[in-house]
Amino acid sequence: MADNRLNTLAAPGVRALTPYSPGKPLGDLAREYGVRDAVKLASNENPLGPGPAVLDALRTGLDALARYPDGNGFALKAALAKRHDVTSAQITLGNGSNDILELLARAFVTPDNEVVFSQHAFAVYPLVTQAVGARSVLTPAKDWGHDLAAMRAAITSRTRLVFIANPNNPTGTWLEAAELEAFIADAPDHVLVVVDEAYFEYASDARLGATHYPDASAWVAYYPNLVVTRTFSKAYGLAGLRIGYSLSRADVADYLNRVRQPFNVNSLAQVAALAALDDAAHLVRSLTDNAKGMQQLIAAFVADGLAYIPSVGNFICVDVGAYAAEVYEGLLRRGVIVRPVANYAMPRHLRVTVGTQAENARFITALRGALAETPAAGNTGSITVTFN
Ligand SMILES: *Cc1c(COP(=O)(O)O)cnc(C)c1O
Repeated sequence: MADNRLNTLAAPGVRALTPYSPGKPLGDLAREYGVRDAVKLASNENPLGPGPAVLDALRTGLDALARYPDGNGFALKAALAKRHDVTSAQITLGNGSNDILELLARAFVTPDNEVVFSQHAFAVYPLVTQAVGARSVLTPAKDWGHDLAAMRAAITSRTRLVFIANPNNPTGTWLEAAELEAFIADAPDHVLVVVDEAYFEYASDARLGATHYPDASAWVAYYPNLVVTRTFSKAYGLAGLRIGYSLSRADVADYLNRVRQPFNVNSLAQVAALAALDDAAHLVRSLTDNAKGMQQLIAAFVADGLAYIPSVGNFICVDVGAYAAEVYEGLLRRGVIVRPVANYAMPRHLRVTVGTQAENARFITALRGALAETPAAGNTGSITVTFN
């Protein structure tokens, strides 16, 4: 079949899709730059990985690999239900929380509909919207964060979903409890408000500085059109296993369950998530390291006169000037992978994940080297952006 014919066969939304561009894998750096000891600070993974309790559970889980997983995730849902004080019927498990975002679009959005989200918001929102042929409605950001008034004004009779990442990736900005709850309370009945709490654990850590950071999961009981998503990929260190979940009313979960694959969450992911929930000590260690690492990065940015966007996640965006693409390349040559965010309309910034102390130090040194060889890239102003 001729290529152009295939073009007309693909669904219109899919034809115009640009695939999600992930952080550069370590293997690529070895192949392309000959760097073998590279550090990857590009995908907001927990540098500690999972704790020993999770590794033990995984070893035991190996015995069940020949069997299909529990398609309803009974044990994990029960544990999550207890933790969030909801029923198991209100929980939907996903192959990562990305899976849930996609299920939401497939279950509730048709090509006649619109989906509202903010400029600089997580790149998966436009992807899942476009994949079902619907229209993305992008509202301008305010001080890099979500402008809830603009988002409210963008809701029409065609809107079915509003995606709010709190905190947002890649900006790290967050919304306070009162403003977010008011938005949810005010959203019309025909709209589901999806609060993406992928970085909830980090943002809840007061050491990062968020004031009145909300736990939207506690509001599910009061607002029928609220969906909250969480993940085990970030603070819990399980990105490679792919597991996340949503909390919603049971009837919303019922629709999500109709479109999901029957075995969308594998058995190892389920046992690992269960064990991770129980290992509070490992989570505390992860958050403590993150808070220290964030301070380490910020101290270097301040010392070098680089503006940054205050973040309550495990990542931070730093303004490296007009030659951010060159600085990114310079970092790669020095064996450090960060994330360019020009595709988020942030051409002067790079997003770096908080790594171990040694990884952060390596990044700081590499950044200084890369900036020094890039024309006029440094000195983005000594005034630190301090909104939010
Ligand atoms: C990382 C991330 C997710 C979670 O992805 P998983 O599919 O759970 O690995 C969701 N939302 C945002 C904003 C993220 O940054």
